[in-house]
Amino acid sequence: MKKKKLHMKRGTLIVSKIIGVIAVLLLIFFIGYNITLDKFKSVGYSKDAAINIIKLTKINYAFDNPNNKTLDRAFSDTANYKEKNLDKYKNIKYVNHKDLISNINALLKKGYTVHDINLIISHGSNDDVKDFIKHDKIQYVEEFFDYPYAKIKNYDRYNNLMNDTGDDEETTICKVNMDVDKENYKDYVTVTDRSKYVLANKHHYLGPKYRPKLVKVSSKYLINPKEDVKGTNEAVSYAIKMIEAAKKDGLNLLINSGYRSFKDQQEVYDTYKNLYGEEYCLKYVMLPGFSEHQTGYSFDFGSGTNNIFKNSEEYKWLIRNSYKYGFIYRYLKSKEDITGVRAEAWHFRYVGVKASKVIDAEELSFEEYYAKYLDN
Ligand SMILES: [Zn+2]
Repeated sequence: MKKKKLHMKRGTLIVSKIIGVIAVLLLIFFIGYNITLDKFKSVGYSKDAAINIIKLTKINYAFDNPNNKTLDRAFSDTANYKEKNLDKYKNIKYVNHKDLISNINALLKKGYTVHDINLIISHGSNDDVKDFIKHDKIQYVEEFFDYPYAKIKNYDRYNNLMNDTGDDEETTICKVNMDVDKENYKDYVTVTDRSKYVLANKHHYLGPKYRPKLVKVSSKYLINPKEDVKGTNEAVSYAIKMIEAAKKDGLNLLINSGYRSFKDQQEVYDTYKNLYGEEYCLKYVMLPGFSEHQTGYSFDFGSGTNNIFKNSEEYKWLIRNSYKYGFIYRYLKSKEDITGVRAEAWHFRYVGVKASKVIDAEELSFEEYYAKYLDN
């Protein structure tokens, strides 16, 4: 009896010793493991990546390439990680795309270089890239995608339009991004922007409910003082500043018209349609909802001394000076194929001084400015 008890005691002792040793070992391992994870964290690798880096025995590689988000994604994405592409992943600028690693693998397989892939993945969404992979390999990726605002989803349209028009790459990109290659008034974008950067044209539709907050223009600034001319507060106040500045230069610059509602534009359109027919109207008059006058940021100017505005000193003055007051000469002859509107000497658009200075310096249409700087 006594002997047995002693035996049991010894057995328990051994078991508890073993448990103790295991516990200590686990603790050491756990601490070591956590220190290692912390080390990986300090060089920009997530826990998932760190675990796989250890498994793949790429510890030195990871520490030699710290804070590389693309590598972090590659090591985390075990389903798509390919060791042979490791040096390629390293040199690809990270974008937050769901299928980044599998997309990179597919593009490499198609024969694209790291430089090409950087251009491709930075010019579209995850799905855009996936669609692009289905496309036959293109030879000169830089041709369009050296331009930061080019979109890979538009690649075929760029090619088609450039073949049709012979325009340069930059113009082509702007036109396609602004849907100029699509049929007028069809498949348009519905606009919700209420800011001074709002774009309204034959591919950007305001709709019947778009109505900005308006103020009246004092009658002393009007060609016809009895008319009711309105615009947004900011546009009106800058138009007045501009008119006063022209006055100081001895000129009589006046406003002919400003805001036009959807309904007003319908009436204008119907009137012209009755007079000249539909074909004429589609060419020269905006359909309701597509006119920039509905934004409250456009004015038609006139001269107090010359009935033909294009021949007036006021017109010449506006061309030279309007940008200083945030206005742009909206419909130029040289830009007819991108604005879709026949040249209009009298129509100026308020966009604010920041934009008007760039538009003036770079000789852009508002569509081109929009494609380059506003269309993200
Ligand atoms: Zn106008």
